[in-house]
Amino acid sequence: MISNRELFLQNTAQTSESPRLIEVERAEGIYLYGPEGQSYMDLVSGFNVSNIGHRHPKVLAAIQQQLDKFMHVTVYGEFVQAPQVQFATDLLSVLPNSFGSVYLTNSGAEAVEGSMKIAKKFTGRQEIIAAKEAYHGSTQGALSLIGNEDYRKAYAPLLPGISFIQYNHLPDLEKINDKTAAVVVEAIQGEAGVRVPDKAYMQALRNKCDETGTLLIFDEIQTGFGRTGKLFAFEHFDIVPDILMLAKGIGGGMPLGAFVARKEVMDVIKANPMLGHITTFGGHPVSCAAAKASLEVIQQEKLVEQVERKAALFRKELDIPQIKEIRGLGLMMCLQLENFEQVYVVSNYCADHGLIIDWYLHCETALRVAPPLTITEEEIKAACKIIREGIAKFC
Ligand code: PLP
Repeated sequence: MISNRELFLQNTAQTSESPRLIEVERAEGIYLYGPEGQSYMDLVSGFNVSNIGHRHPKVLAAIQQQLDKFMHVTVYGEFVQAPQVQFATDLLSVLPNSFGSVYLTNSGAEAVEGSMKIAKKFTGRQEIIAAKEAYHGSTQGALSLIGNEDYRKAYAPLLPGISFIQYNHLPDLEKINDKTAAVVVEAIQGEAGVRVPDKAYMQALRNKCDETGTLLIFDEIQTGFGRTGKLFAFEHFDIVPDILMLAKGIGGGMPLGAFVARKEVMDVIKANPMLGHITTFGGHPVSCAAAKASLEVIQQEKLVEQVERKAALFRKELDIPQIKEIRGLGLMMCLQLENFEQVYVVSNYCADHGLIIDWYLHCETALRVAPPLTITEEEIKAACKIIREGIAKFC
């Protein structure tokens, strides 16, 4: 019989020459299990998705209840679907009052696309500024905003009217002017290797956008839902963006994204022409039921409140000379090594010893560590022991 591994290589699209090929049969809490009974601690949360762990019982119950009522019934924005309405209402209740309207999408990239559209239409301007080294997704609009030129060039031509500023660099804010519809930035740059900006920079960026009538769009697709020690990372900077883009951890493991804005900004898609942004599956009712339950879990289990203590334990346990720097905020961390060879062998060593860690798309010299927020102190110590052993052996 042909194995699933062979069928994966044969029949499903391959996105690299060297996929990790870890086969997953089931997942629970912070663990993944393979078909031969192997277990792995998931220290990357399925790439910042499983903030509350895999298959949280409250999310499973909410999904089951919704499955018993209805799944897809119509395209987004026509019928009143309780899971969408209730989740949007809960989401607005944990955001500043300036946010008044939620558009639910299938993914992060779709949230990026919608945000760019409403910013252009609301301001009547055509230019968008993004940050060098940014990552915002793989669709053509999102790809137009990413900093890595190799990726942009390979799929050119992309969107016109886009220029780049250096992230966390005050002088570049001068490039924002009254022709700029929006500045799109990650609250913390993730795939660039977890670059945390200065609070003063973020506040100056907010001021510059206010001065020039430019909308400030924050990508919190990786940083949202407690990851950094606040429910949303913009809270660290004491500013509020005009548009907030969310996905990944939003759905408790189900596919969902959102962009959130002031009502008057969102309303531009209603007319001239009508149906300015539509989607068939965006805000799928089962995903929304999961998202509502997931947000409740984050609040009821006080997961955000535990992030700082857990992050401090990681930093203490990983305080070894071979790790040049631990960048990050909360449980969004990056362990800087010397080169990709070290990253590659250490992450393979970890996988062989039951621990999934990875690296960042545009920073291959550092290990990616972003565990479910539910990880316990004992699990942190066990995980760090394996990382230390791998580093001691190869670095
Ligand atoms: N923005 C950021 C910061 C991301 O990390 C990602 C995905 O990794 C995206 C956008 C795109 O999200 P999606 O993969 O759901 O389209």
